[in-house]
Amino acid sequence: MVIEANKITNLTRIIDWEQGQLLHVEDSLVGLPEVQDAPEGWYADLGTGGGFPGIPLAICTGRRTLLVDSVGKKTKALDSIITELGIADHVSTYTGRAEELALEHPGEFSLVTARALSSLPSLLELAAPLLKCGGRLVCYKARPKEDEIKGAVSLEKKLGMKLVSQREALLSDDETQRVIIVFKKVKMQKIKLPRRVGMAQRHPLA
Ligand code: SAH
Repeated sequence: MVIEANKITNLTRIIDWEQGQLLHVEDSLVGLPEVQDAPEGWYADLGTGGGFPGIPLAICTGRRTLLVDSVGKKTKALDSIITELGIADHVSTYTGRAEELALEHPGEFSLVTARALSSLPSLLELAAPLLKCGGRLVCYKARPKEDEIKGAVSLEKKLGMKLVSQREALLSDDETQRVIIVFKKVKMQKIKLPRRVGMAQRHPLA
């Protein structure tokens, strides 16, 4: 469905069936163990694009899911896919930025995921005001540099987040590396969040 929708709306650069199976479906499910460790409750996939990792994770977990993207034509294409998949009872879209969602639903999410959205310090900042205490941010990263992880860890106190796990995985092509990094919301953030739209990604705190 994504490959078909992609002919009309630019959702992904991957247009080949085999590559889609590997880099979208299989890859999305690599984080399933970490996702299942998150407390029960509402789930947001930030910068979902073509619905990854959000849709595969929503199907496998049955969680109430919000697929978040600032580009309306992407969320519109996802709305059709959600209906066609028959998962509209627990999956819906939000057209807008993560920062806007945090103003509307502060502290309401148990789980946030993000793949190919931003650096770890930015992700931590975007997720912190959305998560309730005990909630998890599950980040899908290719090969994070040590500095990127250090930068995120340096924000832990300010954002009330704590690094809980880091796991490397290899996809079934025996080539593609994936790192799943999990942060837990441990207390209320010490600064006012969200900052102005775009600040977290353009001017990260770390
Ligand atoms: N997660 C998908 C798409 C990654 S591309 C995948 O891994 O395949 C990043 C997406 O995030 C784009 O679709 C872009 O429109 C969206 N985006 C970027 N910044 C955002 C923000 N602050 N809030 C919501 N969506 C954002």
